[in-house]
Amino acid sequence: MGETVFNHLESADHVDAEIGARISAGEPDRGLTGNVTYEFRTAGKRLFQRGVVAHVTVDENGGTSDPRVFATGDATLPSKGMEEIPRQIADSLGPDKIQFQSKAIKVSDGSVTLEDGRIILGKQIVVATPEPVLQDLLDIKTVNRSVGESCLYYSTDWVPPFKEPFLLLNGDGYGPVNNIAFPSMIAKEYAPAGKTLIAVVVVDDQFIKRTDLEGEVRSQCREWFGDIVNKWEHLRTYQIEHALPDQSPPTQNPYLLPKPISENIRICGEYQSLPGLQWALMSGHMTGKNITKTV
Ligand SMILES: Cc1cc2nc3c(=O)[nH]c(=O)nc-3n(C[C@H](O)[C@H](O)[C@H](O)COP(=O)(O)OP(=O)(O)OC[C@H]3O[C@@H](n4cnc5c(N)ncnc54)[C@H](O)[C@@H]3O)c2cc1C
Repeated sequence: MGETVFNHLESADHVDAEIGARISAGEPDRGLTGNVTYEFRTAGKRLFQRGVVAHVTVDENGGTSDPRVFATGDATLPSKGMEEIPRQIADSLGPDKIQFQSKAIKVSDGSVTLEDGRIILGKQIVVATPEPVLQDLLDIKTVNRSVGESCLYYSTDWVPPFKEPFLLLNGDGYGPVNNIAFPSMIAKEYAPAGKTLIAVVVVDDQFIKRTDLEGEVRSQCREWFGDIVNKWEHLRTYQIEHALPDQSPPTQNPYLLPKPISENIRICGEYQSLPGLQWALMSGHMTGKNITKTV
């Protein structure tokens, strides 16, 4: 895991380059390269755990979710937006199979009741909502907890001082920002020509309830990027109450599906697995396969 992450950390190269320059200038090595690089790598690993892993696991200590997914993969986005992923999967179902804007309020064996009063009948029902919703729909109590998150979007003419689409992690150990992504550096379609789209993620309820969250985020970004941040245009803040399942250890085994509620009602999604798109998709895939075996 480490090598891939650190090979992509621009500052790692700076550290090694700086040490290399000092050695070429005649400074004795004294094991410095090894130590400093080791210290940098250890600090980098902690930073990685606090940032990416905390984001996906919401566990400041690193949690037990598998960070290899983030460490070994590239930063990617569908150029037409995240919606393109379910859209392309749903294409194979044909038209009128999916109803949008239809809130479910109750699930029983054989039927789903919608908010507008309609009742949909089905032999097999899969509930793939966030867990708090699942509890209401099925009138059950589960012990799992969710954690809130805020996502603040900015537009700017400013160009970040690096060429690759890094996910920046907060290594300061304080402040509201967990990580910053630059979606328009991954797919140019995410911003008009000449503009950069910035997405700042703030994890945990203690921050998202602050009255001046935007001001605090801007102030922390100013520490990192300078006064240019004053010119960033704040586009919108999304407050997501149930953003991620709490991942305090022991976390779920994503390869084990949750016990079905009954013979005809199953649950899937990240709330009984690990947070992240790949686990949610895998959970849906495994559930679908199980249904085809029994129906
Ligand atoms: C800010 C943020 C950034 C993230 N970034 C990443 C990332 O970079 N990479 C990654 O892998 N993961 C990321 N994630 C996590 C990822 O979004 C989740 O792991 C994934 O969406 C979980 O999928 P799911 O199907 O379990 O739940 P969801 O995607 O939450 O789907 C649940 C669905 O249930 C629907 N629903 C809710 N209530 C009802 C109701 N009463 N009736 C009918 N439908 C209902 C909702 O509308 C929703 O469509 C991020 C999450 C957040 C919040």
